[in-house]
Amino acid sequence: MIERLAQAFSRHGYLLALGAIALSTALFLPGRGEFAKGQWALLYVLVILLVASAAGPGPAVLAAVLAFFAWNFFFLPPYHTLEIRDPKDWLSLVAFLVVGVLVGALAGRMRDREARARAREQETAALNRLSAAVVSQTSTGEMAESCLGEIVDVLRARSAALFLEEDGELVNYRVAPKEAEVEPLTRDHAAGAFRAGSAGRGSGSGPGDGGLYVPVRSPSGVSAVLTVQARRDERPYSDGDARLVTSLGNMVGAFLERERLQRAATAAAAEREADHLKSSLLSSVSHELKTPLAALTATVSNLLESDVHWDEESVRDELRAIVGDVARLNNSIGALLELSRLEAHAWEQRRELYGLGELVAAGIDTLPAHLRERVRVELPDDDIVVDVDFVQFARVIQALLENAMLYTDGTVTVGARGWNDGVRLWVEDQGQGIPADEHEAVFDKFFRGRRSGQQAPSGTGLGLAIAREIVRSHGGTIGVVDVVPHGARFVITLTADGEPARPEQEESA
Ligand code: ADP
Repeated sequence: MIERLAQAFSRHGYLLALGAIALSTALFLPGRGEFAKGQWALLYVLVILLVASAAGPGPAVLAAVLAFFAWNFFFLPPYHTLEIRDPKDWLSLVAFLVVGVLVGALAGRMRDREARARAREQETAALNRLSAAVVSQTSTGEMAESCLGEIVDVLRARSAALFLEEDGELVNYRVAPKEAEVEPLTRDHAAGAFRAGSAGRGSGSGPGDGGLYVPVRSPSGVSAVLTVQARRDERPYSDGDARLVTSLGNMVGAFLERERLQRAATAAAAEREADHLKSSLLSSVSHELKTPLAALTATVSNLLESDVHWDEESVRDELRAIVGDVARLNNSIGALLELSRLEAHAWEQRRELYGLGELVAAGIDTLPAHLRERVRVELPDDDIVVDVDFVQFARVIQALLENAMLYTDGTVTVGARGWNDGVRLWVEDQGQGIPADEHEAVFDKFFRGRRSGQQAPSGTGLGLAIAREIVRSHGGTIGVVDVVPHGARFVITLTADGEPARPEQEESA
């Protein structure tokens, strides 16, 4: 309230000076006979002081000049004329004018200085709030929302907006309050400030005018424009307000730069990771392919030795070894191709509804006949229907069955049951199991367990990585748990909606 009054006084200061002198003269006049003429001059000085403290030096000087005439006209005889009868009054009049103007100007200037100090204090407080709004946020969206919201509050602006630069163009990023419209003129002014790289004010009276347009700078150039529409009460923005928005723009610039650097660092890390993967893939590919090739070359060279006599049985043995090596080579190449197609999303998925019975049967059929006898199927009587790519999913079951056959001797169980709205499918063996510290790692590319060497010297370490990639692309999860007293159980979980399982669902399983 007081603040409003003060604003009104400073806006209409000269009117206030006129009114104050007129009113005080009207009040003083009835008592003209009560005091000496000099005492009325003192009372006028008091009024000048009041005007100075309410409206500043300019209006106070006007009040002094008006008081000079009013005193002369009404209080120095002859009354109601500007004539001076007593020559001593001339001296008093001049002294009054000088004192009135000086007192008014000095008091007014003091008042201005105090007002400026107060404004600066408010500016600093506002800046603190605004910087907290910028610094405490983690994403550009949150930062923009809280910073625009604060600036609208602090400056009592109609709205504020942030335009971000994208490929050399300014795009409207956020506006506060949310329902505010961004006028085409605001956009034009913002684009102007962006091109010029310097702050501006919209002049005129249309929408978007009377606002502040501040380019947001960061070390890599102008990256955004912050705009603040005119105030709700149309009061123009002061230089302090413009400074405030510029400081805020600098903070937003620092925030955006930090985000940019973070993105660049993440991209660089991803690139390093990709490079690392590529080189590990290359070394592994060359190892996987070279070893059987070297073995093949050696066997074939042996067979070609002219000075060695080979009996038929030995030749057969060597040829069997060759077939084994070729098969191993074929497996490695096939697995690598599958994985790279999966990772590049080049393996087109054709999802349809299939019964689990069909899928499990297709997986079992890929096993050699003598191994199929070791598989026990425990599926519910009512077949469960799942929405999957047949070939890919049968491939997962095949990989789990092959491993179980490879790493264990006994019976291998394939089972399933409905789970929440989805399904759980498992492949379980009673082998030596997987050490706890390898439960996660077995799904990594090229990972081969400590115990895998003797049982499966020709493994690639890709089977489970491929299985995980396929299950993930179906929105499911795959993991391994221990079987008591020994063995491993690989469990695939598919949710009904193809979305990853929520933790509470996991717990209720
Ligand atoms: P590979 O079998 O070619 O080594 P996989 O990705 O299929 O590659 O398996 C990774 C590792 O997981 C294997 O090296 C092995 O140590 C372990 N593993 C997989 N299945 C089983 C299982 N049923 N029992 C014990 N260990 C297993």
